[in-house]
Amino acid sequence: MRNILLVISGPSGVGKGTLARLLLAEDKGLVGSVSCTTRAPRAGEKDGREYFFITPQEFRDRIAANDFLEYDEHFGNLYGTPRSFVERRLKKASVLLEIDVVGGLNAKRLMPKSAVLVMVAPPSMEELGRRLAGRGSEGKEAFAERMRRVRYELDQAPLYDYTVVNDDLQRAKREIQEIIRKEKEKTI
Ligand code: ADP
Ligand code: 5GP
Repeated sequence: MRNILLVISGPSGVGKGTLARLLLAEDKGLVGSVSCTTRAPRAGEKDGREYFFITPQEFRDRIAANDFLEYDEHFGNLYGTPRSFVERRLKKASVLLEIDVVGGLNAKRLMPKSAVLVMVAPPSMEELGRRLAGRGSEGKEAFAERMRRVRYELDQAPLYDYTVVNDDLQRAKREIQEIIRKEKEKTI
């Protein structure tokens, strides 16, 4: 069995974080990678758990030191995947990354033998809007910005290995667990 780099992408509010938490809780062979970001923590977020919250200067220093496997800018903030963590962990377990499509495609280019790309899609645009609004974590402007990016994210689905519709949470989770099982059995 091989270890995989499972990349979960999809528009903001589709349920990536919720699915990732369930997958990590139920599979001891899967570890989550914690990204670095320059955005401010939301209520309830803890440094080192959802993200490492760092300053733009620290982020730039770490780019210069080649510390990120990939990084990208979203909504005016920088987000990056720590390279050493991912490379070290992959020797012993599968690693889950919850990142956007640009980051996902970069990860696949850099680690083609390990990366498995899963796009999480909403059952409908109306439902996506409801979930994002329901989460209540963004102001009006940030909410509108995230909704504008939805089309772009979903249009990249054909470049991904799998698309999973997050209609029913438990069903979507099981579908991803089945993908993990199948992919780990592949010999590449
Ligand atoms: P993301 O990480 O993709 O931005 P979240 O995991 O924060 O999205 O989910 C956004 C909101 O949608 C949360 O309030 C979450 O509880 C809810 N949600 C997630 N999956 C489902 C689902 N299958 N059905 C209904 N609500 C869901
Ligand atoms: P949020 O601010 O809602 O937590 O995340 C905004 C976007 O940044 C989401 O699309 C999320 O997937 C993406 N993101 C989070 N971490 C990373 C990362 O390490 N790299 C890249 N490229 N995108 C990330």
